[in-house]
Amino acid sequence: MRNASGALAGLSDAQLLLALQETDFRVLQLKKQLEELPQRSKILEVRAKHREVKEKLGRLAALRDECDEGTRKLQERESTLKAHMADIQAAIDTTGDYKQATALSHEYNIQSKAVEGLESELLQLLEKLDKIAAVAAEADSALDRLAKQEDALTESFKAQGGALQEAIGRESRLRGLAYERLPAFIQSRYDKAVASKGGSGAAYIENGHCSACHVAFNEGQMLRLKHGEPISECPHCHRLLVTSDDAAQWAAGLRGGAHNVSRL
Ligand SMILES: [Zn+2]
Repeated sequence: MRNASGALAGLSDAQLLLALQETDFRVLQLKKQLEELPQRSKILEVRAKHREVKEKLGRLAALRDECDEGTRKLQERESTLKAHMADIQAAIDTTGDYKQATALSHEYNIQSKAVEGLESELLQLLEKLDKIAAVAAEADSALDRLAKQEDALTESFKAQGGALQEAIGRESRLRGLAYERLPAFIQSRYDKAVASKGGSGAAYIENGHCSACHVAFNEGQMLRLKHGEPISECPHCHRLLVTSDDAAQWAAGLRGGAHNVSRL
């Protein structure tokens, strides 16, 4: 901070004012960048997908329970039928009556067909359960992938966001130092312009127009500005206006870090 303060010591009011408007402008830009970091919306997207997959897994679990229950019921019916068939077979083996034996065999065949039907239903259910398990395994690995994506996005959000916060801190400190060094009447005029215009309260002449509102000055205005005070006022947006010829270049230097003051 002492270095920055030292670097600011030799600056004219006009240069301090340019440093002030540049740092205000930079802080606005940096805050906007922070707001618009792409990770923010990507994290929300990944979370929404994660929720979707979770819901799908819930539906799959319900379907699997249904199939399990169906399988259990079919197996119960099958064992009842098989016990019945064993009884019929025992009756066939013990009867001496031909007609009764024929009737029992007929009944046995009917039961046997019913068992076959159950077995085929059972097979279909087992196949369905296999498919459910495969889809659930895919969904599980999708959940893993999404969780890793969210972690990576959060890390990079923290890193980039942290760097932007640091830069905002640096610019704000420089702003404070430049502001402190300006005479009170310039401070209050600057504050008023910021309050009414937002963003920055000062500008400079850039290719014949105001660097803030971009309205061109006519010949008369240019003459008055050039022959007046080094700090004037833009006749259009009423921001403080630095009139010196090298102001635009100096302000561009601030942006590019050419002066000591921007290396805080
Ligand atoms: Zn202007």
